[in-house]
Amino acid sequence: MGDQVGAAFIHADNIAFAVAIVCGFLAIHFYDRSRKPAFWWTLCFVGLLMMAIAEAVTPLFTAPPVSRFIVFSLNMVAISCLNVGIAWHCEKIVPWRLIDGLLAAALMGNFLVGLVWPGESIETMTAAASLAAAQAIGLYILLLPGRGRRDRALALILALMIANYLSRPLIHAAFTAVSADGLRASDIVIGINNALLTIALATVLTLRLAGRLLRDLKGQSETDSLSGLLNRHGFDLTIKKLRQQSQSTTPTSLILCDLDRFKSINDEYGHYVGDRVIAAFGRLIRAGAREGDICGRFGGEEFCVYLRNSDVRAARLFAEWLRVAFASTSYPELSNSTRFTASFGVTEILAGERIEDAYKRADAALYTAKRDGRNCVRTQDQKGGSSKLSGIHFSSRSNCSV
Ligand code: GH3
Ligand code: MG
Ligand code: MG
Repeated sequence: MGDQVGAAFIHADNIAFAVAIVCGFLAIHFYDRSRKPAFWWTLCFVGLLMMAIAEAVTPLFTAPPVSRFIVFSLNMVAISCLNVGIAWHCEKIVPWRLIDGLLAAALMGNFLVGLVWPGESIETMTAAASLAAAQAIGLYILLLPGRGRRDRALALILALMIANYLSRPLIHAAFTAVSADGLRASDIVIGINNALLTIALATVLTLRLAGRLLRDLKGQSETDSLSGLLNRHGFDLTIKKLRQQSQSTTPTSLILCDLDRFKSINDEYGHYVGDRVIAAFGRLIRAGAREGDICGRFGGEEFCVYLRNSDVRAARLFAEWLRVAFASTSYPELSNSTRFTASFGVTEILAGERIEDAYKRADAALYTAKRDGRNCVRTQDQKGGSSKLSGIHFSSRSNCSV
């Protein structure tokens, strides 16, 4: 009787744990429905929850073949859902054929084996091999080249789960004792192994989902949704981190950009078109910037680009490219001949200089560009000298369309 109370307690624990995990994953899924791993991992734990309920209702060791088959099927479905979630989490293609094929074959095979050899060790072995094979698909997806490959904790748990399934027939052979109530010692050992591995799996999956969620939220708080560039907060934070991390001796430059007569664009065409123009300028910056350049929208129609490994001449060339590309851009909302322009102030950041001083110089250069008639690039050096771009010709015939 005592053993049965203990077993009931373990089942109740498993059910409570699975319910808690399902609620947690569901909360993340409903917070953002595009989070596919949260959806599939919810299904996985719903499967495990139903399995725990089925085991509590008809303990495996006394269960007739049908109950055993139901528990096995739920376990297979749960692992399949886990694998689909892993594929989404690692941004890899879901191997649907492999997952569905193995699921169908395992369900059919085990059903037939259960009919022919009910309760015999061949049934245990077929079930264990099927579960291990399904779990191996998850490990295979994780280890495919790409994201998630270095997730050692998840890989270790999946490997342990495979070993756990494969060792089931051995555990049945090793722990043969049966209590007065008919409880098999081997089932208790297997139950404890399963519970520990499921807790470890749930912990790692929760950490992965929470980590991704926090990273995305942080990214959102630092990104300007209209231009797709960093917002002022994100830009300042990124530059600060960068300057703390590297004491680079290579030149670095700043470009400040301001769209020309933007107020009259809003007045003439409306704010919607104004927004589309800001978005188009953001797209151009992203298209032209190199990896490692930091691009931000400072608010309104003002932008900033922090160019690593670029002296003032290279930065001026980039600003000039941006100027010509923007001045050539047409807009689907407007007539084909409508064009807008921007002005640019460029400066090089001196070694050891405070970024604020470089901003002031770039701002002064931008002011000069506005004063000189707009749609031009001006630079300012540390001595306060300004210059125009000379000797370089950019064709403005290469029209861009956004
Ligand atoms: P200048 O050539 O001297 O830069 O003139 P400007 O009209 O571009 O400069 P001003 O600073 O007078 O006007 C900026 C305008 O940008 C005013 C504001 O209504 C508009 N603006 C700021 N943020 C947004 C935005 O997110 N969307 C739209 N459509 N307009 C914005
Ligand atoms: Mg402006
Ligand atoms: Mg402005």
